[in-house]
Amino acid sequence: MGEIEMEMENIECVTEDEEIQRHSHTHHQYTLKQHTLISCGIAPTNVHELLECPVCTNFMYPPIHQCHNGHTICSTCKTRVHNRCPTCRQELGDIRCLALEKVAESMDLHCRYYALGCPDIFPYYNKPKHEAVCNFRPYNCPYAGSECLVTGDIPCLVTHLKDDHKVDMHTGCTFNHRYVKSNPREVENATWMLTVFHCFGHYFCLHFEAFMLGMAPVYMAFLRYMGDESDARNYTYGLEVGANGRKLIWEGTPRSIRDSHRKVRDSHDGLIIQRNMALFFSGGDRKELKLRVTGRICKEQQNADVGVCIPNL
Ligand SMILES: [Zn+2]
Ligand SMILES: [Zn+2]
Ligand SMILES: [Zn+2]
Ligand SMILES: [Zn+2]
Repeated sequence: MGEIEMEMENIECVTEDEEIQRHSHTHHQYTLKQHTLISCGIAPTNVHELLECPVCTNFMYPPIHQCHNGHTICSTCKTRVHNRCPTCRQELGDIRCLALEKVAESMDLHCRYYALGCPDIFPYYNKPKHEAVCNFRPYNCPYAGSECLVTGDIPCLVTHLKDDHKVDMHTGCTFNHRYVKSNPREVENATWMLTVFHCFGHYFCLHFEAFMLGMAPVYMAFLRYMGDESDARNYTYGLEVGANGRKLIWEGTPRSIRDSHRKVRDSHDGLIIQRNMALFFSGGDRKELKLRVTGRICKEQQNADVGVCIPNL
């Protein structure tokens, strides 16, 4: 009980200050509001918790409902609980929690990825929109082929790939990689591999795998950039595979690891090698896959005059 009362006091404190502010027509809203939060001693997480629906834990947006005893619930959950307050089991009725709606409306909050480095502050209702695309939101583990649930920033994921997935790590922007598989006909057992390259101060994931493209067994190699889409566009990469006077070349832009491995694969955004061709490139008796894939990662330089990307040679 004591804790709840304390939080209610804090809310009032914010509300009052917000009202004062609204009437003063200041141009320094953000600074002032931030100051207000600090002077009232509210950690942004307390406010977050208060505006979380106790049932689904999503943030509540108007109409926010409450029972006769003051337990709040979001409008989505309200339709699901058959008019019973999930907290006290009393009849729910149709009471809006206008105070909380008003608090939400007038509040500026830190991005939920504040602790991960996002400095931005948003009006309550603009926050979800930002958070969905916030550059500081954690990345999913780029390791494919397992349902790895690890998320984090890039340095943490690099450590995770090294320690937990035992991924091959390489330094440098050119590579020469051999993929060997003894039973290449077992394409359903999609062999896939991940190699991580460190160059230009960034990390890139080279994927190689086998899958069925329609009815045709293929191999595919592609690169993903460990960072955001906007930064991925600063790089290009080339892949080559061949033998016996034939060669396949792929030139592309690495995809951000924000795009799932599966999404990139299904968009065929990489070097695709038909299995027959792959076995031809492997030489020998076509019983073993022995592909040598060479590649390079390049950094593009933005040409300020023309506004187009030219290779930085
Ligand atoms: Zn809910
Ligand atoms: Zn209740
Ligand atoms: Zn953010
Ligand atoms: Zn992982």
